Amino acid sequence: MGRFFEERGEPEYRAGQVEKWVWERAARSFDEMTNIPAALREPLAEAYSLTPVEPDYVARSRDGTIKHLWRLDDGERVESVLIPTRGRLTLCLSSQAGCALACRFCATGYFGFRRQLRAAEIVAQYRESLRVAREELGRPISNVVYMGMGEPLANLDAVIGSLRALHEGFGLGARRITVSTVGLIPGILELARRPEPFELALSLHAPTHDLRLELMPIEKRYPLPELFEALRTYQSYKNRRLSFEYTLIRGINDDPALADALADLAEGLICFVNLIPFNPIPSRPEWSPSSPSAIERFSAGLAARGVGSAVRRPRGRDIAAACGQLRLSREG
Ligand code: SAH
Repeated sequence: MGRFFEERGEPEYRAGQVEKWVWERAARSFDEMTNIPAALREPLAEAYSLTPVEPDYVARSRDGTIKHLWRLDDGERVESVLIPTRGRLTLCLSSQAGCALACRFCATGYFGFRRQLRAAEIVAQYRESLRVAREELGRPISNVVYMGMGEPLANLDAVIGSLRALHEGFGLGARRITVSTVGLIPGILELARRPEPFELALSLHAPTHDLRLELMPIEKRYPLPELFEALRTYQSYKNRRLSFEYTLIRGINDDPALADALADLAEGLICFVNLIPFNPIPSRPEWSPSSPSAIERFSAGLAARGVGSAVRRPRGRDIAAACGQLRLSREG
């Protein structure tokens, strides 16, 4: 951007002015930048795009959750969710349109892969959500999780570009940003080597090879022993606690013996398990969430082995805020 102004004989501080609009004021158009000469705003808009996403649909839950479906410039649609809790305002954003990994319990996987998101499209979800957060909720976004549509580590360059923009540009602390993955080993190792302490969450869902293979086809390519070796490497670099996500499906992966197997698998790792009651999806009518008592038993089984866990209550149920569900419900 420095060159843009230089070529037009403009002073150096112009680039700084634009950056201030972009990062601090979450500007969505160059027209808002009133301290930039009007004659420069049009060529700026031609050279740079600030908003490659447009809201297609907004849903507001009774519990305060706000879900957006964004339309991209080629008509693809992705979603993000703002989730207010007492101390936090978390944004869950998408890293791909669709997903190639076909996890059996996930609504996004059912659609298959559409395309990669560009870094700017990931960042735009944040920028637009930040404006909504400020205007409607009166507070900034405190945390970001890459848990919307897509597999972040299958779109690594764009995701790293977006991580840097959130961290260095918008100034969000690296420890407040969580990348969630099915367990793509090369991506885990690349994040391990990066200097910033971004948080990593592994979607585990089953602690044994056969069961995980049934739920998540990626288990064939990166089986648990190799995956956990990569996680140990990650932890040796970062010295940070890892999170596991474990979606509890009634009668499928909620046997207390599996809590024991999970503890065995995680031996030597500092970790925490997020237990998520399965959110029913139309493509799996035969599956339902584990009962509260089964969830309790699973959690107690982990605790007995010294593994901490918390049950994540579903948010935004009334607006289909679970993964992929809004797009799914709008495509009927
Ligand atoms: N691809 C990444 C991020 C997207 S999914 C990953 O797999 O981690 C974000 C989380 O939601 C994952 O842990 C995923 O397993 C979980 N999830 C997907 N579908 C779900 C459902 N129907 N009910 C509960 N959790 C689900």
